[in-house]
Amino acid sequence: MGSVRIYSLAKELKVDSKKLIQELERQGIQVKSHMSTIDQETADLILEIFGTPKEKPRESLLGGGDGASRPIIKETEEMAMTAVAPVLTPVSAPPLARKIRVSETVTVKELAEKLNCKAKDLIRDLMGIGIISHINQILDLEIAANLAKKYGYLAEIVSVYSDELLQEEEEEGSRGALEFKSPVVTVMGHVDHGKTSLLDAIRQTNVIGQEVGGITQHIGAYEVEVNKGKIVFLDTPGHEAFAAMRARGAKVTDIVVLVVAADDGVMPQTREAIAHARAAKVPIVVAVNKIDKPNANPDKVKRDLAELGLNPEEWGGESIFVEVSAKKRVGIEELLEMILLQAEVLELKANRKKLARGVIIEARLDKARGPVATVLIQEGTLRVGDPFVAGVQYGKVRAMINSKGKKVKEASPATPVEVLGLSGVPQAGDTFMVVSEDKRARQIGTIRLQKQREEDLSKVSRITLSDLFKQIQKGAVKELNLVIKADVQGSAEALSQSMEKLSTEEVKLKVVHSAVGGITETDVLLASAANAVIIGFNVRPTPKAQELVELEKVDLRLYNVIYDIIADIKAAMEGMLEPTYREKTLGRVEVRALFHIPKVGVVAGAYVTDGNIPRSAEIRVIRDNIVVHLGRLSSLRRFKEDVSEVHTGYECGIGIDRFSDLKEGDIIEAFLMEKVARKS
Ligand code: GDP
Repeated sequence: MGSVRIYSLAKELKVDSKKLIQELERQGIQVKSHMSTIDQETADLILEIFGTPKEKPRESLLGGGDGASRPIIKETEEMAMTAVAPVLTPVSAPPLARKIRVSETVTVKELAEKLNCKAKDLIRDLMGIGIISHINQILDLEIAANLAKKYGYLAEIVSVYSDELLQEEEEEGSRGALEFKSPVVTVMGHVDHGKTSLLDAIRQTNVIGQEVGGITQHIGAYEVEVNKGKIVFLDTPGHEAFAAMRARGAKVTDIVVLVVAADDGVMPQTREAIAHARAAKVPIVVAVNKIDKPNANPDKVKRDLAELGLNPEEWGGESIFVEVSAKKRVGIEELLEMILLQAEVLELKANRKKLARGVIIEARLDKARGPVATVLIQEGTLRVGDPFVAGVQYGKVRAMINSKGKKVKEASPATPVEVLGLSGVPQAGDTFMVVSEDKRARQIGTIRLQKQREEDLSKVSRITLSDLFKQIQKGAVKELNLVIKADVQGSAEALSQSMEKLSTEEVKLKVVHSAVGGITETDVLLASAANAVIIGFNVRPTPKAQELVELEKVDLRLYNVIYDIIADIKAAMEGMLEPTYREKTLGRVEVRALFHIPKVGVVAGAYVTDGNIPRSAEIRVIRDNIVVHLGRLSSLRRFKEDVSEVHTGYECGIGIDRFSDLKEGDIIEAFLMEKVARKS
């Protein structure tokens, strides 16, 4: 097999040698100069990628081999600078006839299957472009697409996040018919109208259904058995959880129970709850609570709600109203019956034979058990041992615990179960999806995580840029960005909310990222990019993250009392920034003479009057009690020697970085920003 010189290849392609070398490098082929050679096979591949009809038979697979007429140079230039798009969609060639779908997890073996060729052939092709691979090697998408093209296929890229991929997985495991599914209920309503009391009342009314002596577990949801069927209640009442789930695209709730206190009537959050339920197109069952109270006026509640479009059935409307007393346990059974009635109307169905799929309701880091998540199964049946993906996390179900605290081996649709065996803590609202193999779960999880990190980083830097612009426009508007990491989801969320609520007109607090887990390098990078302060609650940074904190000079604060965080932030906002740092003066020198040294600049002959001057310290130049410069030293010498420190009573030569305006009599003060021990 012959070899080809870069410059002649470049000439053939009508492209600059330099550009070609760049492109080769991008393909993993290192060449020294335009005089270097590459083997014929690589040259062919390059020609093919660049679209020259070197090999007729293959070109004909691409649909006619009219490559010679293509605007090669233009295409090539674009390619050298951007990515694959020009390769994937030939500019003037007709579209490739056969299509395959590849995702970020595609391996050599899988690609070979899709391309109807041998894995061996692909490995050889890859070697030709300088990539040593094996059967299970995950391929770069660009390369996979190029290989596909070589075999006459058009590779359509399907993201690991897209539904299509999920569908593919589902198709594999979908058998069985749709069966009735129990309803999932969220309780909403105005504060103090009795949401929590009602959830407790329902739970307790149903003790018969529980194990004798069994302790009910708070796993974020619980099941209630009624003679006609089962109902699942989400345990976190309130609108934030509901809205947060929806914001993440998870439709969890089938029915909303709207609690309205009969002695108080329709209140702002009552309206808000109605708005949430309507936006999510979820039907509402109204529980008129506290009817035991002497001043209860259920009719007024009905009238008010009718005005908002919730017309009671007894008045000819379509809304179900039930009068209850959570306190006196009145009307609870009837409420449950009505919920089931509403569920019947909805005809909720699920296929229990598929690979399981669900939503993360709650997740946390358990000290003893590691990451734990409550999954509400929505389709299929989850079994111990199933490999799965949950957001960016993955794993294999090690154990499952139901809401009665009992270990179970299986969970069918509309069952909330605590799942052990996760790689990390997912987010509430993340989809949980069983996949065919362990390996696949890991691949998808890993790639999603990578993507998320990239997105987080790019998102944040964009935000900062636009904010910067806004700030310039507005003038003095200040913003404090925060990255919050906590040990449990609840704290992370609570903290994020309290932090944002601290915003004032002058300073806006923005949580750019909040998650469960230790502080990682990504968090630090994120904080650095967003110019954010990192707040860790009951978590520690990893050693690498700690190193990066120092390197990137990111402000990292660790706490174990939420109140301290709030107090600190408030203090910081009053003085704006650095509340727990205090300056410590290290030493002072007096400038006694000045020397202009060519190429070096001004150097001061100085005398250390007190303390000592470390070479690396931050310094300020003080003239007549006014700070004229803030910065660092560029040199520190004793006689002709560079030194790291000079002590009291010694003379030294000092140069100041980017500052040449020193005067005799100036004081150079070295200082350190020191973390102040927190008052407790
Ligand atoms: P939430 O904020 O909506 O979760 O409301 P809570 O469940 O915490 O209830 C607020 C207050 O109302 C508590 O003091 C309860 O004891 C009281 N409460 C709840 N339900 C009833 C009820 O049916 N009757 C009476 N009299 N008080 C109730």
